[in-house]
Amino acid sequence: MRRPVLIAVLLAGCSSPAPREVYISIGADAIGTAHGVASLHGARIQMVETDGVVAVLAYDEAELEALSHAMHEQHARCGGYMVHDSLADARASLQRPADGGEVDYTLDRAAMVRTVLPTIDGAAILGTISELSAMKNRYYRSATGAAASIWLRDRWRSFTIRPDVTIELVDHGYAQKSVILTIPGTSRADEVIVIGGHLDSIAVGGKAANAPGADDDASGIATLTEVARVLLAHDVRPARTIKLMAYAAEEVGLRGSLSIARDYQKRKVKVVGALQLDMTNYQGSDRDIWLMKDFTSAAQNRFLIRLIDGYVGATWGWDACGYACSDHASWNRIGVPASMPFESRMSQRNTKIHTRDDTLELSGNNAAHAVKFARLAAAYAIELGKGDLGGAQVGSTAPSSSSSLPWKLIAVVMAFAAIWLARRRRR
Ligand SMILES: [Zn+2]
Repeated sequence: MRRPVLIAVLLAGCSSPAPREVYISIGADAIGTAHGVASLHGARIQMVETDGVVAVLAYDEAELEALSHAMHEQHARCGGYMVHDSLADARASLQRPADGGEVDYTLDRAAMVRTVLPTIDGAAILGTISELSAMKNRYYRSATGAAASIWLRDRWRSFTIRPDVTIELVDHGYAQKSVILTIPGTSRADEVIVIGGHLDSIAVGGKAANAPGADDDASGIATLTEVARVLLAHDVRPARTIKLMAYAAEEVGLRGSLSIARDYQKRKVKVVGALQLDMTNYQGSDRDIWLMKDFTSAAQNRFLIRLIDGYVGATWGWDACGYACSDHASWNRIGVPASMPFESRMSQRNTKIHTRDDTLELSGNNAAHAVKFARLAAAYAIELGKGDLGGAQVGSTAPSSSSSLPWKLIAVVMAFAAIWLARRRRR
């Protein structure tokens, strides 16, 4: 990406914000929106710095929820801004590094992909969306938002008894926690692949609101969940480490993903690719999968197109969604190749998100569209993760040796042998 000319608009007295202020970064095209929200309530807002693409503002924390709604209404961005824990972190948003560049985007695991993909189950995705959207809301500060984290951790835990596969809750200092499932790499464990979606939902009213978020983003979490299920059911043993992440608090400034990405950057964890699944089950356009070309990796996007054409069997197109439109932006800002495949053209998006009407009915009570994204994400995990299939059985979430395929074969052979012996004795 072009290195923009910095226009410093440093204002006096903004080196540390007032108690209720936080530093946010937001698309420069949305400065007017931020001003509009603040002035509506007489709240303070200060421009710290902008480079014409991104702006850093000191902003009243109490106005963030209203800003989320305005960003959604006026710019169709889910999130739409980043909340930073320091001025330095906010200003780092203006230093956008080129992404990590070409990884080995080879397609050489066709047999593995073609074994795993047919077992992706639309009914399972539908079931997960239905359970998540039945919660009153998954707001980051609500009790049900917190319960959603525990629910998801337990669901993911039920998929395997493999001791090397871990599922953790990440505490960010508010009720809802991010959930991370890790399948450790065998030979290149220090290279990490992230596939994510956001667990929280939002509607006007925050904690008290009815926010089913069936599409935004129970669909992405359900897609991710099905990817976890099939990878583990097939006992996938990737060369690289695969991490599936359900982020907390995306709707209020990408907070969960930002804090995880910041931590990985600090610890120098090498993330070779990040894929975001935010809204996968509302087919609003004539083509299936829309790749966002802004604030994403061109090289990884081209890799996704090869996966779609080669394995997914779906149509695709290009679109753009603006600064910080979802959690991939948290990875993009630290130089990780990131992509955001979306369910429709932004201009034909699901207009019911962030309301009580974001329900499964809008998707015809089926998960046919989300299945395409699950196929893409599973193919991405396998072809970027490399590695092989392990020896455990397919079809059950927790392997049980008595019913595994080799045992069934042995049982059949022994039964035939017994019949043959019995007949011989009779002769
Ligand atoms: Zn979303």
